[in-house]
Amino acid sequence: MYQDIVEFIRNHYNAKEGEKVMLHAPTFAGNEKKYLNECIDTTFVSSVGQFVDRFERDMEAFTGAKRAVVCVSGTNALHMSMLLTGVKQDDEVLTQALTFIATCNAISYIGAHPVFIDVDLDTMGLSPIALENWLKQNAEIRKDGQCYNVKTGRRIKACVPMHTFGHPVRLEEISNICRQWNIELIEDAAESIGSLYKGKHTGTFGKVGAISFNGNKTITTGGGGMMLFQDEELGAFAKHITTQAKVPHRWEFVHDHIGYNYRMPNINAALGCAQLEQIDRFIESKRATAQAYINYFAGEPDGIKFMKEPEGTRSNYWLNAILLPSKEEQLKFLEYTNDNGVMTRPIWELMNRLVMFKNAQNDGLKNSRWLADRIVNIPSSVIIL
Ligand SMILES: *Cc1c(COP(=O)(O)O)cnc(C)c1O
Repeated sequence: MYQDIVEFIRNHYNAKEGEKVMLHAPTFAGNEKKYLNECIDTTFVSSVGQFVDRFERDMEAFTGAKRAVVCVSGTNALHMSMLLTGVKQDDEVLTQALTFIATCNAISYIGAHPVFIDVDLDTMGLSPIALENWLKQNAEIRKDGQCYNVKTGRRIKACVPMHTFGHPVRLEEISNICRQWNIELIEDAAESIGSLYKGKHTGTFGKVGAISFNGNKTITTGGGGMMLFQDEELGAFAKHITTQAKVPHRWEFVHDHIGYNYRMPNINAALGCAQLEQIDRFIESKRATAQAYINYFAGEPDGIKFMKEPEGTRSNYWLNAILLPSKEEQLKFLEYTNDNGVMTRPIWELMNRLVMFKNAQNDGLKNSRWLADRIVNIPSSVIIL
């Protein structure tokens, strides 16, 4: 019954007989080989070389962040974000149940506890209304100026909204609520490189914004991540602790903090530089594909709706998402498309349903549960003409 949709997608991606349309394949159409060869020719494949610095400066110019610091994955960008904003063991961190596991893993690495707040139906990301309601019912600011959960007695240190599939959350409202409750804002911008909220890049609103360059993201370094800062001093400290916290010296090995070997190798950064040069046309192509889907789904065929970018935002449309009318239809659609040469997948299992987080607090998660039963991602790769 979903034959027409399958045909539309296969035509859009010009798929040949027997060829499967992937969800998101990387595109290498620029200086990737040239820069990688440069690394090998100069032997600078690892911790020495010019591409790491260049990638950071290029990302600062692209996003408008004061400081960008690369690391080896989006997950450790999130881990370091927790550490750098002062999240401590036994603190609580407010986030979404509707997210990729890495968000919650990063909270757990610190020994902190995630609390799951509901999402908005249009952004699929953290709801400022749900956030405020939960805080009013569960939190208070104590004499030390910090926010505490009145039931558990734990400090609530940070809030981590995630820009689902590249669609920005309501950053202004969330940011105001965080300021009012003295909670640090960390953006999980892993999926939203190049997405704008009111004309400004996602990842530049919080104290830290974490980006991923995994192979399935909009641009890739093979594996890699980045933190964006507005606070240059904090950015410099991030660079220091992600590179073993070594005190600069020509030959001495002196370290002044517990450090991490989270430095991105030069070859990965070389790939990143070449990919970043093409990001504008990648996003143009992704937005053209989204527009083709918008046109196709305009009449809601089979009761299916396409998830458009929220008002006031410009999404990178990392992964296009559609809303099936029910869980039964979601399953049928997944089965039919995957059987017929079009790769699709459901949204992630909600975090509160995973064994590690089944006892975590949540606010009922009405919208999250509704979306989890209906959302499916459809092919979204860049097309280079
Ligand atoms: C991809 C992703 C990450 C993690 O990135 P890695 O580079 O794979 O570690 C974190 N959060 C979200 C929401 C992601 O989609």
